[in-house]
Parts: sequence; structure tokens; C-alpha cells
Amino acid sequence: MAVTVRDVKCIITAPERCDIAVVKVETSEPGLFGLGCATFTQRITAVKTAVEDYLRPMMIGRDVEKIEDAWQQMMGSSYWRNGPVLNNAISGVDEALWDIKGKMLGVPVYQLLGGKVREGVAVMPRGAHGRTLEEVGDSVEAMTKDGFEFIRVGLRSLFACDEERKPEGAPEGIYFDPKKAAKEYVRLFAYLRDRFGDEIDVGIDVHERFHPTEAVSLAKALEPYKPAFIEDLLAPEYADWFAEVRRVSSIPMAMGELFVNPMEYKNLIANRLIDYVRCHISMLGGFTPAKKLAATCETFGVGTMWHGPHDITPVGMAAQLHLDLVSPNCICQEYAVPGEITYEMFPGSPVVKHGYAYVNDKPGWGVEFDEEMAKKYPGKGYNLGGGLAFMGRRHDGTAVRT
Ligand code: MG
Repeated sequence: MAVTVRDVKCIITAPERCDIAVVKVETSEPGLFGLGCATFTQRITAVKTAVEDYLRPMMIGRDVEKIEDAWQQMMGSSYWRNGPVLNNAISGVDEALWDIKGKMLGVPVYQLLGGKVREGVAVMPRGAHGRTLEEVGDSVEAMTKDGFEFIRVGLRSLFACDEERKPEGAPEGIYFDPKKAAKEYVRLFAYLRDRFGDEIDVGIDVHERFHPTEAVSLAKALEPYKPAFIEDLLAPEYADWFAEVRRVSSIPMAMGELFVNPMEYKNLIANRLIDYVRCHISMLGGFTPAKKLAATCETFGVGTMWHGPHDITPVGMAAQLHLDLVSPNCICQEYAVPGEITYEMFPGSPVVKHGYAYVNDKPGWGVEFDEEMAKKYPGKGYNLGGGLAFMGRRHDGTAVRT
């Protein structure tokens, strides 16, 4: 008798500053269930609706072992597809099915994909930031001592914009001056190379803040300082411009935090215009499409550096790490290490020790979830900066994404 799906639910909780979403798939086998990550913190109740109103009825009664078939059904059944809300909903169910598969066979998921190619995954922490060059340098030095070899830097003064340049009546907001920011990046890298030499790998994330010609110019200006990578140099809409970037710079390009659709990355990979993919795997639709993307990248010599911010569950982080463990082309894993409350709510969460992340060897993802504890930390709603956390303004007041 096939084991089938008995119920599907999406639980929103906020153990720390962000709302996160866990999907739990219960089965016809008593005590057998799976967990998946469906965290799209900016639109999280929409994801819950997509899971419980649309995927749940479709999944109940299905054979839990047919993961690929379930994924194709979930992705195709809305006819219009590949948006962040639906992809996260699918991810929650998909990852839960992989968890169930591992538990049924009594092995960690990485064993289902050929086994480990490494024992620990090199971690890229969230970033070395500071108000001054010296503060950034001190932060880099501290991370190096903690064992991290992939470090991203940022300078808070990038967002300092001259008040007198704003037009009269300019609204409140985060102001950004691209010309000034480009100069600050060059100044920062000149400082870091002077202080540390070529011994450290330091990259930057420019969050698609530049127009294409500004982006090409920045890559050219930074070339002498050999950054380890530039992340999200261009917005997905301007991805064609990566060919221009390649003509002026050999700096590795990390791209894809915002990708939700294979149309966004397939040409960049096939045409060798980027070096590392930075996708957030629940935004792709879960573990099933992410393992395909990892394999495609390997074929073209592109590495993986999956996105690992605070708005991800330890279940989602474990899924990324299981994939990292089996992918020869994994460069490193971004990892925003959560606080104690999250570790208590998710027993078995991955751990980071001296620059490397480790999963346990329990079946499935190896991560548990204390639902009773989660109830004590209800979701807060998306109100980071009144929902404007990812919007900024140019010096003349024009709204831009940041
Ligand atoms: Mg980023």
C-alpha cells in the first residue's frame, strides 16, 4: 500500500525578527511527516493561502514517493507559473516530500543524491559592514580569525546623500547616489588591498542599484583590486548587459538572488556570462528545481552560492546544505546564523563551526520543529520599514529598488 498525503499545512512564526513559514506534510503512516521551507517573508500570508487553499486539496491522497510528479503537477496546475508566491508554496510541499522520502528510507537526503563530496560546507557570512574603511577592515579581520574565507563587504556611507541635492519637497527615504557609491566601492577595495594584500577573498553585493552603464563602469574600475566577486551587479531585467561587463572585466559575477524563473538564468549560464548562481531555492520552487539548476551549472562551469539570509527556516537552510554537500560546484553557502530561540524551535538545525556548516546524519533533513513553541512566537506581518525596506531613492527623489 502506498503511503499517501493526509494533510498539508503552512505555519507562520517569527522566532526572531522575520516571519518564516514552515510547511508540514502529514502522511497516512502514523508519525510520518515532512517539513519544508516556504518563506517569502514579504508576502508570507499569500504563500500560506497558496499552500492551504490550492496545493493542499491537490496533494491529499497522493503517493508521497512520487516527488517529481507532484512538483510537475503543482507547478503546472496554475497554468500561469513561476512567481515568488507560488514557487515558495511549491517549495514548502516539495521539500517536505524529500524529508519524508529520507525518513522512509532511513537516510539523510544527501545520501539519495550520490552522497557527500565534502564533509563541511564553506560558509559566507552575511557581510562585513562598517561606517568607515577601518571599521570594515576590522570586521573583515575578525571574520578571517573566525575561519571564514568568503567575505562580503559593505560601507554604510554608501547611503549618505547630500541633503542639499534633494529637490524641494523630496519624500523621506533611503537616498542613494550611484556616482558617489561607485567611488566609495573603489576607495574601499583600495583600502582593503593595501591593508590585507591579496591574501583574502572579498566580494561585494551591489543589490542591482546601478543603471547598466554605471554597472559596467564599476566593474572596470574595480578590476585592478581583484574582488572575489560582484553580486547582483545588474537587475534581472538588464541581464543582457553582462556581455558588456565581460568585455571590460574578469571579476567573477555572482547573480540570481531575485531569480524565480528558469528564463532568467538559462541564457546567462549557457552563454557563460556569470560565474556563481545566488538563487534562493524556495524562490525557485524548492529542492527539486534547485538540484537541476546545480547540475546544469556544473555542466557549464558555474558555481553555486545559494542565498542564505535571515528570512529562511532552518529546514530551508538544511535543504540548501544537503544540496551543497553533493554538488562538486558548490563554492560556498551564505549563512545568516540564527539566534538561540530559532535553534530551540528547530532541534537538529545545521551548525556553523570555524567557517564550515554541518548537517546531522539523521533521516530526511534531520531538522525537527516545535509547533507548540512556534505558537508563542506568532508572525509579525511584513513591516520592516513600513514595507519600504527594499525601496530607495536617487538623489533627485526618484524611487528605485535597492
Ligand atoms: Mg544579495
